[in-house]
Amino acid sequence: MNASGLSPDQVNLQARVRELAAGPVAKRAAEVDRTEQYPWDNVELLKDAKLLGMTIPQQYGGQGKNWLDAVLVIEALSAACSVTGRIAVETNMGAISAVMAYGSEEQKKLAADMVLAGDKPAICITEPEAGSDANGMTTRADKKGNRYVVNGRKHWITGGGVSRLHLIFAKVYDEKGNEEGIGGFLAIRDETQGLKITKREPTMGLRGIPEAVIDFEDMELPPSALVIPPRGLKKGFADLMNAYNSQRVGAATVALGIAEGAYQLALDWSEKRHQFGRPINEFQGLQWKLADMSIKLRAAQALVYDAARSGEGGFPDMLLAAQAKVFTSESAIQVVNDALQFFGARGYSRELPLERMARDVRMFTIGGGTAEVLRNVVAGALLKKKLPQTRDGYLSS
Ligand SMILES: Cc1cc2nc3c(=O)[nH]c(=O)nc-3n(C[C@H](O)[C@H](O)[C@H](O)COP(=O)(O)OP(=O)(O)OC[C@H]3O[C@@H](n4cnc5c(N)ncnc54)[C@H](O)[C@@H]3O)c2cc1C
Repeated sequence: MNASGLSPDQVNLQARVRELAAGPVAKRAAEVDRTEQYPWDNVELLKDAKLLGMTIPQQYGGQGKNWLDAVLVIEALSAACSVTGRIAVETNMGAISAVMAYGSEEQKKLAADMVLAGDKPAICITEPEAGSDANGMTTRADKKGNRYVVNGRKHWITGGGVSRLHLIFAKVYDEKGNEEGIGGFLAIRDETQGLKITKREPTMGLRGIPEAVIDFEDMELPPSALVIPPRGLKKGFADLMNAYNSQRVGAATVALGIAEGAYQLALDWSEKRHQFGRPINEFQGLQWKLADMSIKLRAAQALVYDAARSGEGGFPDMLLAAQAKVFTSESAIQVVNDALQFFGARGYSRELPLERMARDVRMFTIGGGTAEVLRNVVAGALLKKKLPQTRDGYLSS
C-alpha cells in the first residue's frame, strides 16, 4: 500500500526496510515459525540497520524518530515476518517508551543501552486471574525497609526467557500494609533473584517469540527500580498505561503488515493461476474480493497512521489508538483469510506462508487489549465517562 502524506525521509526509510524485509527477513520467516526459535540473527539485522530503539531520544543514543517512522518500519517487516515486526514494536514502543517518558535518568540510560544493544523489553501486566481487568492484579510489592519484595505470577508475557529488561506491574503496599496503587518496576532477568520463567505457552502462531509464565518469589528490588515514585502511583498506572497506547498502535501495525503481505501474495497469484482457460482474476467474484481487501487495508492504514501522528511529542491518543487496533485487527484477520482462499488447496499447505499468516494474525484481536475491551474504551471516550464493568457499578480507580 502506498499512503500519501509521508515525508521524503519516511519514503526512503520505508523503501529501505521493504528491501530488508523482502530479502533476508522473508527468507527466515518460515524457519522461525517452524523451529519456534527467537530470531537473534534478525535482531542483529535490525540493529545494523538502526531500526532498534529508533524512537529513543538522541541524548540516550537513539534517533528521536516519531511513531509514524516506527510504524513504517513495523508495517514493512511484518509483511514478511510478523515475529520480526513484533521485535520492532517492542524495541520502539511499549515498555521502552514508558521508561523513556517516566523513568529516572539512571533508568532511561539503562533501558536505552539495553535496547540499543538488542534487548527486547518485556512488559508484565496480565495474570491468570487478571486479564482484561488489569486492575484486579494480585502481584504485590511490599515495602520492607529499603527495598520492595515482589510476589506473584504473570502469564502470556511476550519475550519471557529471551528478554532481559522487564517492566513489572504490581500493587504496592507501604510498611504498614496499606495499598498505594499499581506501580511499574524495572528488573533484569538473570541479575534479579526470584524472577523465574516457569512455563512457555504453546501458542497457535507468532511462534518465534516465547510467551511465558513468570513467577516472582520474594524478588527484592531497590526503590530505584520503581519507574514512578510511590506518591505518584495512582496516577502512575494511568501514565504507564498511556504509554501502552503506542504499543497498541504497534500491534495494529503488525496486523496491518501481515494482511498487506497476504494481499500482495493473493494479487500476484490471481494473475498466475489459470482455471477454465483464464486467469482466476478474471472472475468477478475474486475481483470484488480483491477490491474489498484493498479497501479494508487502505482504511486500516489510514487509521493506524492517524493514530501514530496523534502522538507527536507524547503518546498516541487513546481513542484513536483503540479505534485503529479494533478495526485493523478485525480487518486483517478477514483479509488474510480471503487471501488464503485465493490459493485453494495450496493456501492450506505449510509450504506457503498463508497458513502461518492466518495463525499469526489471529492474535491481534486479543493481546494488548481485546477488541471487546477496546470497544469499551472507544465508547467510554465517546460518552466521556468510565463505563461500569463490575456488578457493583463504576470502577473506583
Ligand atoms: C500472544 C499474546 C501475547 C501477549 N503478550 C502480553 C505481554 O507481553 N504482557 C502482558 O501483560 N500480557 C500479554 N498478553 C495478554 C493479553 O493482554 C490478555 O490476553 C488480554 O488482555 C485479555 O486477557 P485474558 O486473556 O485474560 O482474557 P479475559 O479478560 O479473560 O477475556 C475473555 C473474554 O471476555 C471478554 N471480556 C472481558 N471483559 C470484558 C468486558 N468488560 N466487556 C466485554 N467483553 C469482555 C474478552 O474480550 C474476551 O473475549 C498477551 C496475549 C497474547 C495472546
